[in-house]
Amino acid sequence: MVIAIREKPLKLLWLEAVMRRLFKNDIEFHYYQEQYRRLDAGFAGEQKVDREWHELLCPNTFFVLHNLCLKNTAQHMHQLDTLFICSQFIFVLEIKNIHGRLEFNQLTHQCTRTKADGTVEGFPNAFTQTERHMRFLKSLSYSLPIEGAVVIANPSAIIVNPSKVLPIFHVSGLHQHLQLLFKKHPQKVLTDDQLAQLVQGLLSKQTIPHIQTSIAPSRFRHGVLCPKCSYQHNMYFYRGIWKCSFCHYRSIEIFAEAMLDYQLLVSHSITNQQLRKFFKIDSIDTATRLLQKFQFPYTGTYKNRVYHLPENLLDYMKRFF
Ligand SMILES: [Zn+2]
Repeated sequence: MVIAIREKPLKLLWLEAVMRRLFKNDIEFHYYQEQYRRLDAGFAGEQKVDREWHELLCPNTFFVLHNLCLKNTAQHMHQLDTLFICSQFIFVLEIKNIHGRLEFNQLTHQCTRTKADGTVEGFPNAFTQTERHMRFLKSLSYSLPIEGAVVIANPSAIIVNPSKVLPIFHVSGLHQHLQLLFKKHPQKVLTDDQLAQLVQGLLSKQTIPHIQTSIAPSRFRHGVLCPKCSYQHNMYFYRGIWKCSFCHYRSIEIFAEAMLDYQLLVSHSITNQQLRKFFKIDSIDTATRLLQKFQFPYTGTYKNRVYHLPENLLDYMKRFF
């Protein structure tokens, strides 16, 4: 059994930073807030399903891959939320964490959700998405049969008109469905080594997704923002500690989170001047000390020095506190 810990997708990290920094009266605040809510709920649903794998009784090795981003021959992206792979079959799971009454119209391929208050909303059709991913995996010509299902992570959701083409069930039905698949495909098609090779091959084909949207930095709240004040108040730097001007909360580590916001929303590199401007620091010396403390790799001479912010910035900066 190999289950990697699910990491937050980049888009969700980006939206979290947007929610911390975008002014509430920004013209697009509600648009991004809605995107954030959907993605955050989706991630919570995927985590709910992840807990099920640990209780799965499977005699053979299996792999569970998360957020696998692959490009097809037409260079279009396939983002597979969850992929279960064992030596008998590949199982594509499309996880939806939606509440309300979910109706799937087979003719129009439309999925609608009716909330308790009667509001009706359209959603991308999970069956169409799953079938698209399955076709793509088939095109990679693996010898394993490909299966797929839509899994509903919210127990209060009511499923209406389930598709006859693909199974749909609540997360509580996952174990039973897997047992059916093990029965349907009893034959081991691959050895453990071949299985590991297939998984390695898939992981090596990964494309790192990047954020297409960019928002002008002037639309963001600048400074190091106080988490205890829901990021609505600034913190100032005094004697090596950031202190909230409103609630007086003090933290050293909060600077890492603020730098992550800068990296996600503005740039992967920063100069002394940009640091002072974005984090509202008056003194060149303080900014220099902060930049040097974290030993960021840099290019350029002293005055024009550009510091390059590493991937996994939070983990990287943790070492220096
Ligand atoms: Zn505060």
